[in-house]
Amino acid sequence: MAGVAGLSLPATLFSQAAPQTAGTLRLADDLFVISLPDEANVLAHIDSKGVILVDGGSAKGSESILKAVSGLPGAGTVHTLFNTHWHPEQTGSNERLGKAGATIIAHENTRLWLGQNIKWPWNGQKFAKLPKVAQPNKTFYTSAKLDSDIRYGYISDAAHTDGDLYVYFPKQNVLAVGGAVSGQGWPVVDWWTGGWIGGMVGGIQRVLTVTNADTRIVPANGPVLTVADLQAQVNMYGKIYDTLSGMMNKGRGPTEAVAAQPGKEFEAKMGPSDEFIRRSFESLWAYLSPDA
Ligand SMILES: [Zn+2]
Repeated sequence: MAGVAGLSLPATLFSQAAPQTAGTLRLADDLFVISLPDEANVLAHIDSKGVILVDGGSAKGSESILKAVSGLPGAGTVHTLFNTHWHPEQTGSNERLGKAGATIIAHENTRLWLGQNIKWPWNGQKFAKLPKVAQPNKTFYTSAKLDSDIRYGYISDAAHTDGDLYVYFPKQNVLAVGGAVSGQGWPVVDWWTGGWIGGMVGGIQRVLTVTNADTRIVPANGPVLTVADLQAQVNMYGKIYDTLSGMMNKGRGPTEAVAAQPGKEFEAKMGPSDEFIRRSFESLWAYLSPDA
């Protein structure tokens, strides 16, 4: 804004002249976070062929999100969409972009979840399988890269689901991590499709191996994070994991775990923890019970 220094512009005019609009955060000339109200983060990369998206928001928000994407400087057609995991907050643009011919990249487990109806046992919430055209059409197991130097890989610890992926943009030093990291309150512990408290610790440790000191991390929800933020999360989830697994080994149950309040010390920052602690404890059964 050097050109207007010294001018007394009305606030509204100033914000219109700013290089980013509401809901769009510029990380680099060719890399943006779109964050609309009630929507998860969408990362948009402009390249010579068009646009690469990491996640596409919900079905309800899809139209607004894609409109915001098309308004980015230099934006063309979305040719590639990553699904960081199967949840509907991330896969709501799959049908629209799949019909338009986009390559939809996901871990193979994510494709499998999107091809079946799912019902969460703890609240009865149902998720309908996606039509074929909306399902990922390019899957992988461990890691891969695009023709450009953009790398992506499986977060095999099951931090959030058993199909979490990261996407790393080396030139901009930005790492998209989807639901494996939450930047806004306690995450959903979706143990029904593989996520668990131990995986949160392992998953964040794993994505940290992709980073360097200056990497900016884009989670599914909330603000862009630093490596220090992730290290703090590893410590927090690690402490909770130790408490809960210790209780499970002593034969305690989820209600006793909630009563012990192992999330209490983090509530000022993270919000009420009861639901998170209960789901986390249940998630241990799936991974640590001898008869599981
Ligand atoms: Zn999710």
